[in-house]
Amino acid sequence: MSVTVVGSLNEDVLVAVERLPGRGETVVGRGAVLAAGGKGANQAAAAGRLSAAAVTMVGRVGDDPAGERQVAALTGAGVDTALVRRTAGTPTGSATIPVEDDSGENLIVVVPGANAALTPADVDVPAVRDAAVVLLQLEVPPATVQAAAEAASGTVVLTPAPPVPLPPALLRRVAVLVPNEHELAALAGAGPGARSPAELAGLARTLGLPAVVVTLGARGALVVPGDGPVWLQAPPPVEAVDTTGAGDCFTGALGAALARGAELTTAVREAVAAAALSTTGAGARAALPDAGAVRDVLP
Ligand code: ATP
Repeated sequence: MSVTVVGSLNEDVLVAVERLPGRGETVVGRGAVLAAGGKGANQAAAAGRLSAAAVTMVGRVGDDPAGERQVAALTGAGVDTALVRRTAGTPTGSATIPVEDDSGENLIVVVPGANAALTPADVDVPAVRDAAVVLLQLEVPPATVQAAAEAASGTVVLTPAPPVPLPPALLRRVAVLVPNEHELAALAGAGPGARSPAELAGLARTLGLPAVVVTLGARGALVVPGDGPVWLQAPPPVEAVDTTGAGDCFTGALGAALARGAELTTAVREAVAAAALSTTGAGARAALPDAGAVRDVLP
């Protein structure tokens, strides 16, 4: 009944600036705020907050204070971090993000650091082999993602972000793919642009997977089974203040529900509710809901 997440842990460095710098330009920021991040760790934290069952993170941090902070943040969310290994001589992954005051526009510089050192041997463990659900993203080396997908005997859920072409050998192992609209278009070889649910379902079906769940921001999520009816789940009404990490909360919640044995439709309903609630606080992890909060807003 457990969930295992194989993926990245980052320290986000958020810097408020009056105006984003241009090329070669220096601007002065108003101090930096450190926040726990990384797609893998965000998904694990969301699942940890929601799940009564075990949630395990498999990843790497540096042998540095930032790494200690990432491990502590996950432990605080109820995640087992025994398989988060320290890598000597390499910094913990980081994302430095200046955010412009009025527009909210940002720039992001990611340094993979220790995430790049996660090896196929690191994922050859019972926590991956035996988990009911394994959550994967693409912020660790492709060979490691592939090895985890092959080792897993449970349901493999893949977030195809950042978007890169997915090898057929990986897609064959995926039970549920969770792209946003842009990631889906890129994977299906289609151009950018707004699409109707029917058009998105058409793109999703070209991938030939058992199920694709397309996240649609404030519109909720579209469930596209390999066969069977397409279905759009709208979110409950919320006052969204910051959607950073909403996609990761969605997938963490989806994994927690699937591991409990929920049907995909029930799992998506809960994931849409959890992700909506997560947008009501600043940052990726400030407003991760627990199971009671999700139950309270379920339709
Ligand atoms: P991010 O990269 O910021 O994590 P994403 O692009 O991967 O986001 P989105 O589709 O923007 O993912 O959002 C994921 C889910 O979060 C949506 O499917 C929806 O359930 C929920 N969500 C996002 N924005 C809102 C919003 N404004 N109001 C309610 N729910 C939202």
